[in-house]
Amino acid sequence: MLLDSDPQPDDLKLYCRVCGYELTNLTRSICPECGTEFDEEDAMSVVMDPQEVETAEADELLRKIMVVFVSPLVLIFLLGVVFAIVFLIGKVVGFELF
Ligand SMILES: [Zn+2]
Repeated sequence: MLLDSDPQPDDLKLYCRVCGYELTNLTRSICPECGTEFDEEDAMSVVMDPQEVETAEADELLRKIMVVFVSPLVLIFLLGVVFAIVFLIGKVVGFELF
């Protein structure tokens, strides 16, 4: 049958969005691994694929790397551009800044 009215087929597994623990066939709506409460009707409180948990952690790590390493580089670059503009304006106008 193409149209299956069952909203939760047997092959649909849910995983804790915090720790990735499989939340299938639990009697209580609390993750036994990390204690996080979940609502299997709420898509935001569970994930269908444990890969999503790892992806979220990788994204967080990437964001931290961006903030720690890339932000100073961007600031240095912008500072360099500002100095270059000031230097060029100085050349044109006729005063030696450096
Ligand atoms: Zn958990």
